Amino acid sequence: MIACLGRIVPSADADVSTISQSLDLQGSFESGGIMGVAGKDFGGLYSVKPLALIKPSGTEDIARVVKAAARTSHLTVAARGNGHSINGQAMAAGGLVIDMRSTEENHFKLLTIDGSPCVDVSGGALWEDVLKRCVSMFGLAPRSWTDYLSLTVGGTLSNAGVSGQAFRYGPQTSNVTELEVVTGKGEITVCSDTQNSELFFGALGGLGQFGIITRARVKLQPAPDMVRWIRLVYSEFEEFTRDAEFLVTREEAESFDYVEGFVFSNSDDPINGWPSVPLDPDHDFNPVHIPQSAGPVLYCLEVALHYSHTDHPSTIQTAVSGLLERLGFIRRLKFQVNVSYMEFLLRVKRVEEHAKANGIWDSPHPWLNIFVSKSSIVDFDRTVFKKMLKDGVGGPMLIYPLLRSKWDDRTSVVLPEGEVFYIVALLRFVRKGPSVEKLVAQNHEIVKWCNKEGLDFKLYLPHYQSREEWKRHFGKQWSRFVERKFSFDPMAILAPGQKIFKRTH
Ligand code: FAD
Repeated sequence: MIACLGRIVPSADADVSTISQSLDLQGSFESGGIMGVAGKDFGGLYSVKPLALIKPSGTEDIARVVKAAARTSHLTVAARGNGHSINGQAMAAGGLVIDMRSTEENHFKLLTIDGSPCVDVSGGALWEDVLKRCVSMFGLAPRSWTDYLSLTVGGTLSNAGVSGQAFRYGPQTSNVTELEVVTGKGEITVCSDTQNSELFFGALGGLGQFGIITRARVKLQPAPDMVRWIRLVYSEFEEFTRDAEFLVTREEAESFDYVEGFVFSNSDDPINGWPSVPLDPDHDFNPVHIPQSAGPVLYCLEVALHYSHTDHPSTIQTAVSGLLERLGFIRRLKFQVNVSYMEFLLRVKRVEEHAKANGIWDSPHPWLNIFVSKSSIVDFDRTVFKKMLKDGVGGPMLIYPLLRSKWDDRTSVVLPEGEVFYIVALLRFVRKGPSVEKLVAQNHEIVKWCNKEGLDFKLYLPHYQSREEWKRHFGKQWSRFVERKFSFDPMAILAPGQKIFKRTH
């Protein structure tokens, strides 16, 4: 039955009924007005109408959908994780959207590989569920995270997946040992660094271009019970970066388990200024401690140390003090709390609840994420943070160092040059004030300035409109990316929302 689709180049209506009948899915096929979120994402900047939304029951269903699309002359397929992209990356205009969350329960299994624990999880599982299940059932947890965990395994692995643990373990793409993937030819393929390795590395950071990740094998470690979570304020960028780099380049036993940072406005603005720093409502940020020499923005180093219930409080205190005494933060501007490990990893969930209550979670999010090399970060700070964004962006402006040697250059992710680079994340929340268009324009202005000044940088969660721009983004890795596309998705069926390749016949 499916074979006959190749001969049909019909109206959308004919497509829908023919395809839904011929697919013979275990899961469901929805079209018309009931597709809900399939044409929207967290960014709220783009909206397109798909032909249908498919809720597969598993890998076989997904392979059928891709094969069916391949037998038409025009249909595309977008895997939708949790739709937390910003620029329509998980959408398919007039195409088939696969809701990966309907497979979230599949595959869950603990394994020991070469003496080390791993867990098999669905590509459609949310990381928060992986966390809860692994901790409650096995006392184990993945090693590398994102800040926010209502994201799917396949969605973050298609980009990189970074947070304050990445300096030690690399991004999430460095913490999986095997994938099951449905390629753009509809083939179900298991891959790893030794088996079908081109597909394995291609899919990691591959922006969904080479296959749909249906299962991932994720490395685990024993889950700590508690976390000492600390924020330290700096007035000088050079001191902030020196300390952040000092911590991320030390041996495991001689540093914190999590290192991030953010820039905030040197003002009493409740969202962008001093009040955004304390970790507890009872803590007070007293600006009297800020040196006179401080500029329009200040910097906060955010660190955390894991510990267990059996550790004596004095042991934790000694470890923390030993590390803090090496750092040059403003002594009276230190904030700390003790929280459970789960509370710490789920910290952005509380921000989400709060933002939902204020109505700003569902408003547009013109976010910008950039990797900036160490060689360019002082220039970036001087112009972008100290001038363009000195009043803040209505949400966090994250900045923290990462180490290139923890990333595998066989994956599809592209990075700036040099061992140390910074992730800069401008996480804008839109309240009253400048229009969304103005904020998008400001993002463009920042990127344009980076180009003009010749900064060494790459967009993270990239978004471009033209092939030329994509080519420039990938640089010398472009030909490898194109070859992988030709091998695994030659008709460019997958992830059309990335706007890298055009569907061919
Ligand atoms: P979607 O947005 O649904 O999809 C993203 C892309 O991946 C699309 O092209 C889609 O087609 C493709 N895709 C989805 N599932 C699969 C699959 N199974 N196989 C192949 N391709 C697939 N990122 C970080 O690295 N660190 C952070 O700390 C971080 N924090 C964030 C906080 C918030 C509040 C938000 C909204 C985003 C954050 N991100 C962060 C970005 C996030 O990692 C990416 O946007 C990610 O793609 C979202 O995952 P998702 O499951 O919603 O994917």
